[in-house]
Amino acid sequence: MGSQFWESSAPSDSFSVLIVEDDGPTRTMLAKLVGRTGLFTVLESSTAAGARNVIAERSVDLVLLDMGLPDANGLDLLEIWQQRLTSDEFVVIVVSGLDDEQRMIESLRLGAHDYLLKPIRPQILMAKVQNAARFHVANRAARQLSQHLSAVVDSVPDGLLVMDASGRIIWCNDHLESMFGRRGGTSTGLDAATLIAPSTTSFKEDDRQIRPSGGVLLEDLGRRRRLVGHHADGHTFPVDLMAAGLLGNEGRFVTIIRDMSESERVAELERNFVSIVSHELRTPLTSVSGSLSLLAATEANRLSESGGRMLDIARRNVDRLNRLIGDILDLEKLASGKLSVDLKPEPLLPLLHDTVEMESAGSQAKHIRIRQVIGRALDDNTYVLVDGDRFRQIVANFLSNAMKFSPEGGEITVCAEALDDGHVRISVTDHGPGIPESFRHRVFQPFSQAEHPSNRRKGGTGLGLSIVKALAECMNGEVGFDSTPGEGSTFFVILLCQRGLAGTGEGAA
Ligand code: ADP
Repeated sequence: MGSQFWESSAPSDSFSVLIVEDDGPTRTMLAKLVGRTGLFTVLESSTAAGARNVIAERSVDLVLLDMGLPDANGLDLLEIWQQRLTSDEFVVIVVSGLDDEQRMIESLRLGAHDYLLKPIRPQILMAKVQNAARFHVANRAARQLSQHLSAVVDSVPDGLLVMDASGRIIWCNDHLESMFGRRGGTSTGLDAATLIAPSTTSFKEDDRQIRPSGGVLLEDLGRRRRLVGHHADGHTFPVDLMAAGLLGNEGRFVTIIRDMSESERVAELERNFVSIVSHELRTPLTSVSGSLSLLAATEANRLSESGGRMLDIARRNVDRLNRLIGDILDLEKLASGKLSVDLKPEPLLPLLHDTVEMESAGSQAKHIRIRQVIGRALDDNTYVLVDGDRFRQIVANFLSNAMKFSPEGGEITVCAEALDDGHVRISVTDHGPGIPESFRHRVFQPFSQAEHPSNRRKGGTGLGLSIVKALAECMNGEVGFDSTPGEGSTFFVILLCQRGLAGTGEGAA
């Protein structure tokens, strides 16, 4: 057993034993005994000065130290080495001819690992040497592991802390301290709420405490949360926080805190940039669009055939640009939480007919037929609680995609039907290529376009459906789709339906 331990964790040339003994025959006997195992590298010294030189020049793991040396007392050496013994650099077994209890106690107090009385009994010596060696190797491994873990923890570019169930910080890394402008472990013992809170006032001053019972700072462990960091100099900054129960330590939580100031700043710059650029583009574009419309209305007859065609192309491209800028602005509003909807009960059927009519112009070029199917339960008294313009935008987006992907001469069905639970479902069905299986989960994500062989030619940005989804959610609705690849797609929105008097919000259907 013992030898297996040494073979695996202490190769013979890595563990050295220094024998410090002035009596030649005893030293030789000790060296033979220790060396015989083949497990240790044996070094010898007959004086205290020699022993200090060996220790200074090379790594020694275990010292067998005689008490009575010609140039010093063994206790003197222990005193000199005390600091190194405390930090487990090496271990000492005192070998003494004096059965002196006081001396034994003093040796152990100074850091000796064990005490052995002469005459030496080989088996007891070897048992003690192996014990001390095992102790030292285990300590060395633990120290290395702890240094390794410290290096890992210090290299993490985020703040790390461990707190107890009351939110008191038990431990934190240097990065956390510098993030919050604290130094030298001053965060330890603090209530974590002093550093991180849900708003610009700390938990203590904030009545809207989010701490669940038990006082743990984090109500949803395992989820990333955006909170406010409180720096020691008084300023606040955004932080992302994620916490988890510390394995094997019930009631303790390890928390990662990331300073989000820089990414917030970049996101803010990005938002402002998008918004400024889009608005700056929109103004001249509105004027170009107005001029082109005027030209088409008043001068179209005077234009040559190719001039008319070019005017038409210009108008379509201006429309496209307008839609794109509108989408980008909507997306930016959604991202900054500034998108607002004006919810009012609107009569469903006129709103739907109008939208289909307005959008159907685009179907003529491809000779597409648009069929409207209205469920029997719906009539002029059916109202939906929506923002009319945003409702049109949703249906128009479904329709323009359906027209884009329908084959020449195809048919699109716009269907409105009442659901059992007081909602209506408005759907647009086409017989285009459908949604590929691999794309289904990305349909409503921004900037997502399927790899239809013909998608490139169809243009678009992949923004429309993500905006549609957000708009529907703002109006307490939801969107979805059914599709069979190769056969077509049905995109739908489900909205709350109101029956009866418009404006009173009376009774759900
Ligand atoms: P865009 O149409 O500008 O690309 P959307 O967000 O409206 O952006 O649509 C995202 C993608 O979803 C489209 O590019 C297309 O790949 C797919 N898609 C949407 N509607 C249909 C449809 N009716 N038939 C097939 N694919 C569709």
